[in-house]
Amino acid sequence: MSQHFLLSKAARSLSIARVARLSDEEAHDAFRLIRWTATEGEPVCPRCQCGATYKYETRKLWKCKACTHQFSVTSGTIFASRKMPIRDILLAIAIFVNGAKGHSALQLSRDLDCQYKTAFVLAHKIREALADEMADETVSGEVEVDGAYFGGYAKPANWKENRLDRRLAENQTGKRRVVVIMRERGGRTLPFVFKAESQSIHTIAERVEKGRVIHADEAAHWDVLHTRYLTKRINHQESYSDGEACTNMAESFFSRLRRAEIGTHHHISGRHLGAYASEMAWREDHRRVSNGEQYLMATNAALIHPVSRQWKGYWQRGNIRV
Ligand SMILES: [Zn+2]
Repeated sequence: MSQHFLLSKAARSLSIARVARLSDEEAHDAFRLIRWTATEGEPVCPRCQCGATYKYETRKLWKCKACTHQFSVTSGTIFASRKMPIRDILLAIAIFVNGAKGHSALQLSRDLDCQYKTAFVLAHKIREALADEMADETVSGEVEVDGAYFGGYAKPANWKENRLDRRLAENQTGKRRVVVIMRERGGRTLPFVFKAESQSIHTIAERVEKGRVIHADEAAHWDVLHTRYLTKRINHQESYSDGEACTNMAESFFSRLRRAEIGTHHHISGRHLGAYASEMAWREDHRRVSNGEQYLMATNAALIHPVSRQWKGYWQRGNIRV
């Protein structure tokens, strides 16, 4: 029997110990090379894209000869205004990509010996950068569509006589959301968050190319997909695959997201559900890529991603709840 990819040596090309041992200078050089790959690490002005710069030797800053803009290796990226040393950011990314079911902010704060709030925002910045990869993507070929509900847990009362029927809408919290996934076999995984599965039809029409094959379950709201796609349905009451239709690739994604919810984060709030779903889609799509490559891809994604509107100064804007 051939060896599973994840057990092979090729799957392990990143050593956290090696990243942790980087000097400030080496970490800075690593960042520079990843950010400015095209110029082999030579700085390019983020404001006017000019390659001619003056260098401030002592402060690790450059000044653009054309527009006089001063910038550092993280200026204009998702890590702008950072206080954390670059080595610790690289370490955070290395730890983050190694977590098959995600990595909790609390654990990251212990790994890096930083505040919980710092780790929380840092992990979300990495998620935001990864999600960018699929921002305008469409899927084609054979696409599996399915939904699964997350969040909005209503705790049952202690005494039986006080318990409510949690299946009724009036006894629910209203925070429950559904993640709808469009997963191309052998291709990308695109997750979206809705209040109800039936609200996803418009987004499916935008993201799945017309005339393609869609696999979906027996839920009635998928019936309209037949007008636009060659739709194959599988009745989950009877089987998970009948040789024609199956949504097992979509289920694999939900399995990973569910494990992240239960095993890593313990709770995923509705407003961040999209971010965690995108993270898990990224992990699914790159599960056969070595962790060293994942680390480079994630670092590169973060360094080409502009300053985060959502996460820059998150705690300074009075967000006290996570
Ligand atoms: Zn410039």
